[in-house]
Amino acid sequence: MIKNTYVLNVLNDFKIKNKGKDEYIQACEEILESLELLINKREDYIKENILERFLEPERYIEFRVCWLDDNNNVRVNKGYRVQYNSAIGPYKGGLRFHPSVNESIIKFLGLEQCLKNSLTTLPMGGGKGGSDFDPKGKSDKEIMRFCQSFMNELYRHIGPNIDVPAGDIGVGAKEVGYLFGQYKKINNEFTGALTGKGLAFGGSLIRKEATGYGLCYFTNAALKTLKNDSFEGKKVIISGSGNVAIYALEKANELGAKVLAMSDSNGWVYDEDGIDLNIIKEIKEVNKGRIKEYLNYKENAIYTESKEGNATIWSLPCDLALPCATQNELTLEDAKMLVKNGVIGVFEGANMPTTIDAYKYLVDNNVIYGPGKAANAGGVAVSGLEMSQNSIRLSWSKEEVDARLQNIMNDIFINICNTSIKYGIKLNDLLKGANIRGFEKIADAMIAQGTI
Ligand code: NDP
Repeated sequence: MIKNTYVLNVLNDFKIKNKGKDEYIQACEEILESLELLINKREDYIKENILERFLEPERYIEFRVCWLDDNNNVRVNKGYRVQYNSAIGPYKGGLRFHPSVNESIIKFLGLEQCLKNSLTTLPMGGGKGGSDFDPKGKSDKEIMRFCQSFMNELYRHIGPNIDVPAGDIGVGAKEVGYLFGQYKKINNEFTGALTGKGLAFGGSLIRKEATGYGLCYFTNAALKTLKNDSFEGKKVIISGSGNVAIYALEKANELGAKVLAMSDSNGWVYDEDGIDLNIIKEIKEVNKGRIKEYLNYKENAIYTESKEGNATIWSLPCDLALPCATQNELTLEDAKMLVKNGVIGVFEGANMPTTIDAYKYLVDNNVIYGPGKAANAGGVAVSGLEMSQNSIRLSWSKEEVDARLQNIMNDIFINICNTSIKYGIKLNDLLKGANIRGFEKIADAMIAQGTI
């Protein structure tokens, strides 16, 4: 419960201004609850009205995207880009193509991205974008035409020193390729205006794996420092089976854990032998199929449809829970079930997958909570490394990028721990320290640059 009058007033004003934008308000509330500890010590932040300034995005763009489907019908979608904060570097953040995308989703993701990018220690501001376009069920040519039309508007707002988008849900290497091709065509210039590019045209090794790998490096660092433990022998549940989830599975396996279940939006599959990475890659990356198809490969696995009863994937006993699908997928009920089953840590691959009440329940019950803005920062960190490689026109080896990624994830964890110690925060609650650490750097840069 926020007590500081300044923080409370900012939150109340934000709620009025953004009525109905539930995810955006949720992200703001969660951030302000943490920042109260900092504001209590920093009178200058109040004088500078830094919270209100930070919470208002620098620019928000909404645009029409018209494209032709395979039957020559003209289709219309909404496109979005929020350029949230550029105090510490060019705007940077992914594009999400999913029917659930709206202003609230884009702004909550943009706000979170600012703090995440700051935590990486790399010079990147925060942004996010996307469309309510649903790539599912569309042909390659339809996706290409949509991406080209989307870029016909977005190109005027981005650039390697202005704003550098990347992928997110529904936007992988294929979509980034089409977006980059159109950007290059319009600008007649080959520059790193997007990250997550193919290796043949400026992409970085390990970018595809970075978010999932980074999540496991962060988790391992937390287990080592806080519990003198590791992934070795742990039972793990991962939600989702997209880019983040697949490479979290790969790294968790490498680190000696057993992943017992994974999901998609239709349901989840449980395999007591441990989920087979090659099967998941074949179903999801090669065939673009559904997780249910796992049963075609492993007869003894068990599939549960999401709609069957009230149970969720989090009802399965595990030591570590890695939500890697989408926002608000882990509720208070799920948190209670996880605690009852003896979970040690919840580390977020997705953005804001845990509801506020679930997060509070977890930390109150001594579960280590690693928030997405820290635990999934590996993706944007390697995007930052892709930008560096593009700038110097060199490509680093897989080993070099991976070593840098590990260092960044370890540093993020250590910086959060140090911040938590400074502010007297319980060490299993990594959210408050992450918010304070990420915000302080941006706020100081904003103040140094004057009221603009
Ligand atoms: P993908 O599109 O590759 O995969 C998303 C996965 O989540 C799919 O398995 C999808 O299932 C599932 N999913 C989506 N919506 C829901 C839902 N409402 N309920 C249950 N499952 C759902 O996306 P990513 O793996 O790239 O992203 C996953 C999360 O990680 C997002 O929150 C994203 O913002 C975050 N993230 C991603 C980064 C990256 O580098 N890609 C970086 C940092 C964070 P289905 O196929 O059925 O829709």
